[in-house]
Amino acid sequence: MNHSAPLEAARGWVDAARRIVVLAGAGISTDSGIPDFRGPKGVWTKNPAAEKLSTLQNYLADSDVRRAAWRGRLDSPAWSARPNAGHLALAALERRGKLHALVTQNIDGLHQRAGNSPERVIEVHGTIHFVTCWGCGWRGPMQPVLERVRAGEDDPACEACGGILKSATISFGQQLVPEVIARAMQAAEEADLLLAVGSSLQVYPVAGAVPAAKAAGARVVIMNAEPTPFDDMADAVLNGPLGELLPRVCAGSSETPPGPRAG
Ligand code: NAD
Repeated sequence: MNHSAPLEAARGWVDAARRIVVLAGAGISTDSGIPDFRGPKGVWTKNPAAEKLSTLQNYLADSDVRRAAWRGRLDSPAWSARPNAGHLALAALERRGKLHALVTQNIDGLHQRAGNSPERVIEVHGTIHFVTCWGCGWRGPMQPVLERVRAGEDDPACEACGGILKSATISFGQQLVPEVIARAMQAAEEADLLLAVGSSLQVYPVAGAVPAAKAAGARVVIMNAEPTPFDDMADAVLNGPLGELLPRVCAGSSETPPGPRAG
């Protein structure tokens, strides 16, 4: 596919923009070794039954589901994953002073590790780096709890109240944190350019940030390997690998990455 015209347009819009909001999805982290859910190699594409295990109701009701979740988490690729060229390009965008907010559906913490400041990263689906207690609301870091699992506790309970512990992520069937989603939607409405990157844009309400930004007057650029339901409303759609597209679209003219132009 010939990307050069929309890619050059997107790059020009980035140069001109002052309040860019990025809406990131799991596709930005696949190059770091963390599979997405719905892409061709996605966790649910390969194993549709896995979606059922991701619901809050199953997790809370069934200790077998919790044991499987903790076991699976022990060797999650997320613990050793490092930011890739796509994450680094978004950190560069912040260094250029253009990033208003980075709304991410990702739970892996790689944007912050790439250098984006935590204040600008809005984690609408939470983070795997923390754990919360479903009983008393205690919140603490994930790694000490994983140590307990390694030591033999297959369904570790809250040490304060004995309640069920769960990663601080938003599972399917779980309420989003209203203030967090409100902040994300407000940022989208304040954007002059919205970049939707690596998301199938099928998870609501956050996918609604795309039409919200458009309705508020922003340009919209969608970058993803596959089509999304919002491609028709976008000002440009770039279908390709984010590790190549993002550095080209986000770099300023003095930071132009080496290599051939897209085409
Ligand atoms: P998704 O799985 O629904 O869609 C990801 C999209 O990214 C797919 O359309 C896929 O084709 C595309 N993609 C994959 N690799 C790409 C690449 N290298 N270049 C360009 N495009 C690429 O993901 P979603 O929209 O973020 O929704 C899934 C939900 O799952 C989110 O809510 C998120 O919380 C969670 N999740 C997070 C992670 C993570 O934190 N890394 C991983 C898996 C799932």
